[in-house]
Amino acid sequence: MYEPAGVKTSANFPVPGQMKAWVLGDPDQLFLRDKPTPVPGRAEVLVRIDAVAICATDLEIIHGGSPASILGGLPFNKNFTPGHEYMGTVAALGPGVDEYAIGERVSVEIHAGCGQCKRCRQGMYTSCLNYGRADKNHRANGFTTDGGFAEYAVNHINTLARVPDSMSDAEATLVVTAGTSMYGLTELGGLVAGESVVVIGPGPIGLLAVAVAKALGANPVILTGTRNARLAIGKELGADRTVNIADENAVEVVKQLTDGIGADYVIECAGTAATVNQAIHMANRGGKICLAAFPHDPVTTDLAHLVKNNIYVYGIRGEGRGATRRAMALMAAKRFDATRIHTHTFALADLPTALRYARDRVEDAIKVVVTTRQANAHASAAAE
Ligand SMILES: [Zn+2]
Ligand SMILES: [Zn+2]
Repeated sequence: MYEPAGVKTSANFPVPGQMKAWVLGDPDQLFLRDKPTPVPGRAEVLVRIDAVAICATDLEIIHGGSPASILGGLPFNKNFTPGHEYMGTVAALGPGVDEYAIGERVSVEIHAGCGQCKRCRQGMYTSCLNYGRADKNHRANGFTTDGGFAEYAVNHINTLARVPDSMSDAEATLVVTAGTSMYGLTELGGLVAGESVVVIGPGPIGLLAVAVAKALGANPVILTGTRNARLAIGKELGADRTVNIADENAVEVVKQLTDGIGADYVIECAGTAATVNQAIHMANRGGKICLAAFPHDPVTTDLAHLVKNNIYVYGIRGEGRGATRRAMALMAAKRFDATRIHTHTFALADLPTALRYARDRVEDAIKVVVTTRQANAHASAAAE
């Protein structure tokens, strides 16, 4: 049984001493293992994971290691469990926790900063200056500490957002992605209603950036990409206009729709040299560009155009300043339907198949969700 000293448990919610967890071996090698159920420390809770969404970053970590880092190096063969976009039910309370009760459903943020560096103090805990330092209590679950491809995980209470009863487990996993879009647009970018937004790249972050921008009153919201099926989903999530860059000149279309001046914000979610330069030429004078994708190679850009036009460019890491809770507020109020990007559901035991669906975009997969709650879950189009 699970009865660690100082940890509050409930007879109504028994926790096993051992759990199932996927562990990363060599690159592209995952094993389903038994691990001790983790123990929450001060200000932490144990979360029983009910559902976890697969992110493109998980695929990068499992294949190449980075951007995960365990004990200062690549995460291979270190008994590391990846996965970071999960939700679940509070199953045990660490010392000093009375903010949450056992049995409450919660979504999680990835990052709990150290809480003692300058960036954490500013609320920029996703850019914690003690990133990866377990001795400073830094956590980035699925990156520097164990993540969500398991039955249980430990989370700091500051990373939790309550899930309303009306929201499905699968939808609640999507709040992590929506929170990243929220952080880029509002906290880092300062978006206010009535400003124009272009989103480049209709992946999960791009599609939810469209939804969040529209819900916050941006106008117009323009989405560019190459796949018509995904652009159509962008329209359903609130894009006023979509542009297939194979058919139209995206920079010209953006200018036409913004009285010839360009957009106030461009969120670049594709990460190619061509799209980064499109972003530069779509932004208006004094406008802002949020770089939300990791280009794999150095990119040559028209820097002079940025300088002459006072254009701001900023990177984004994760979901700082409590952005996930604000994204949850929009989703709870049904301001947009994030489940439009959820396409497939698998059981935890079928994680390798789920990863293949996400990686190879089998059956046009966008967000693939893995659940621990339905033992008979199998490859299926999302019901909701
Ligand atoms: Zn992610
Ligand atoms: Zn910190």
